[in-house]
Amino acid sequence: MSKTIIVSNRLPVKISNDEGSLSFSSSEGGLATGLGSIYQDNNNIWIGWPGLEIGDPGQQQEVIENLQSRKLLPVFLTQEEISEYYEGFSNEILWPIFHYYASTYTNYQQSNWDFYQSVNKKFSDAVLSIVEAGDTIWIHDYQLLLLPGMIRARQPKVTIGFFLHIPFPSYEMFRLIPWRAELLEGMLGADLVGFHTYDDVQHFINAVVRILPHNSSSNVITVKDRPVVAEAFPMGIDDQKYASLPERPEVQEQITHLKENFLNQKVILSVDRLDYSKGILQRLMAFEQLLALYPEYVEKIVLYMIVVPSRDAVPQYKELRNEIDKRVGNINSLYRTMDWTPIHYFYRSFPIETLSALYNMAHVGLVTPMRDGMNLVSKEFVASKTENTGVLILSEMAGASKELLDALIVNPNNIGEIIQAIVTALNMPEEEQKNRMEQMRLVVSQFNVFHWVKVYMDKLAEVKELQKSMQSRNVDSVVAKRIRSNYLAAKKRILFLDYDGTLVGFNANINKATPDLDLYDIIKRLVQDEKNKVVVISGRDYKKLEEWFGNTGVHMISEHGAWQRSKDQPWESIRGLNDQWKEDIFPILKTYVDRTPGAFIEEKSFSLVWHYRKAQNGLGELRSNELINNLAYLTKDRGLQLLPGNKVIEIKNIEVNKGKAALGCLYSDDYDFVLAIGDDDTDEDIFKALPETAYTIKVGSTVSAAAYYLRSPNEVRNFLRELSEPV
Ligand code: UDP
Repeated sequence: MSKTIIVSNRLPVKISNDEGSLSFSSSEGGLATGLGSIYQDNNNIWIGWPGLEIGDPGQQQEVIENLQSRKLLPVFLTQEEISEYYEGFSNEILWPIFHYYASTYTNYQQSNWDFYQSVNKKFSDAVLSIVEAGDTIWIHDYQLLLLPGMIRARQPKVTIGFFLHIPFPSYEMFRLIPWRAELLEGMLGADLVGFHTYDDVQHFINAVVRILPHNSSSNVITVKDRPVVAEAFPMGIDDQKYASLPERPEVQEQITHLKENFLNQKVILSVDRLDYSKGILQRLMAFEQLLALYPEYVEKIVLYMIVVPSRDAVPQYKELRNEIDKRVGNINSLYRTMDWTPIHYFYRSFPIETLSALYNMAHVGLVTPMRDGMNLVSKEFVASKTENTGVLILSEMAGASKELLDALIVNPNNIGEIIQAIVTALNMPEEEQKNRMEQMRLVVSQFNVFHWVKVYMDKLAEVKELQKSMQSRNVDSVVAKRIRSNYLAAKKRILFLDYDGTLVGFNANINKATPDLDLYDIIKRLVQDEKNKVVVISGRDYKKLEEWFGNTGVHMISEHGAWQRSKDQPWESIRGLNDQWKEDIFPILKTYVDRTPGAFIEEKSFSLVWHYRKAQNGLGELRSNELINNLAYLTKDRGLQLLPGNKVIEIKNIEVNKGKAALGCLYSDDYDFVLAIGDDDTDEDIFKALPETAYTIKVGSTVSAAAYYLRSPNEVRNFLRELSEPV
């Protein structure tokens, strides 16, 4: 029976070592709760680091045995590995860059990278030691970016999901990393790459297509014929747990106690792990200025601030802690009165019952990270508001802000805005609080952590299905043999061959993509067989086709069907086509050439083409979108069609299309073998128009209406050569 293997840096377990005697307890973080339903079932398992260094082989064995009953498999790390892979590479290089904290002082230490690779390899060995055909592996977070690729290299068919729990930065940030290509290749070992927000997905795809030689079509990236999907799955919490906690007697007791303590005061709650990305200092600054600007709040509000210790081995975190201590001390000493302390600051973690009581009774949840992949605290605060009162102030830089739209959304860098939001929150009428909180609770409950796991796993299975159907479409030797045997058996054959990108490769200079001797040789062989009608069907203008193929005996269709020339006949255009519209469209295209270095216009008899294959990467796409918007109405009014292709936009008469032209040829005779090969969007019209019995082949393994695909013009030539091989 196939199993699911969860992999994350840390196992959901706490082990303490008391003078050589080990004790174990489970640690139920958000992820463990969500995945609990998975890894505790059947023969599923969770692989990760147990959280402390255990060097002694006897103790390691003890850990392995104890964790086995909890369905956990430990990967042991040495102190050096922890410091280089985890503290060094993960937390001092990846974490800051992914949270937009890169600076010229970032230290890209080679040894950090070496250990990052070797530890990922260690995880990979652990996975490979237990993985079997048919298993599903779900890898989590930035410490293991290389792991999907490493597993894929050894187990090409296995199902791998990857989820990034922190933001994926924009290309401009990501490109700074010396090992950017390796990291992306590692992630692309997965079949489904999940992120918290749509922005992260866009940033990831953008980085992939700019850094690696892979193509993408919307959110599908094709990696060596394997479609990899990138998608947003905003992570949720166990909302029921947070909604029911306040009913428990021990939580009730704490709520009552807190309410008594803060009688006639409104509590502003702030809960974070110690991290510079959480905006703790900025929040303190806002609170201090609030007290200075609004003295009426003295003795009326308190900031209840919990900072959970984290990464204290990293120097910046130590500094941050000292700075927080100092600021809190300053503010308290400046504003406190005999009966009142403005900030109640705790540098430690609390049991969930205490958190629940605080979430439940606080008037304001103040969550203002500078950057946060998701931020679960904001969702826990909302879920705990069983009476629907209270106000959430939320940073727009947190992933959660894309869902909790009824929070007071602030820019965490804008101290004035945070102050205003606190004032608004303190004065918000109860009805508005309830309206907003109800909406947010609905979202938190609908998109809870169990939903997150389900939609992710469903999508992973769907991607695997997509891959299977892709695989069966490849013209491998078996398929090629089948096509050839039908070819040989046929009495009358017609072959539609697109030119650019199909018979020859893509060339930045359109006039350089000329046919070579090898291609002429293949064409000659096909034409010589009198059972064959060979149709070169292209978007090129007829003069070019005439120059290249005029003497070869092929049937030519140019300009997507506007012109045709049968063997031994003159060129003919479709009757009634007009080209008057060119006068109006040309000047518009010209302005886009003037604004886009590298772009140019190609004029054909019945169409105009705006090329941007030589334009700066990204700018060409931007301009082409602008151009499409600009021309949308104009073209409709004039019976024209806008045809976006590979780095081109073509404007042509709507009645001209390759599909119609191909169909026209088909009716001239009774063909019992029909083949069409093409690479472009315009060739999709041919694939769709031809009868189901036709062999339709797309060049490139992307989404297509064609039944099969080949990878490159080179493969097309080999295929045609073998097809026409004498018996
Ligand atoms: N948390 C905790 N103990 C505490 C305070 C908070 O375990 O004393 C939990 C909190 O409930 C939340 C998590 O820590 O689930 C923080 O997650 P979040 O996504 O907000 O930030 P992260 O720490 O992952 O960056």
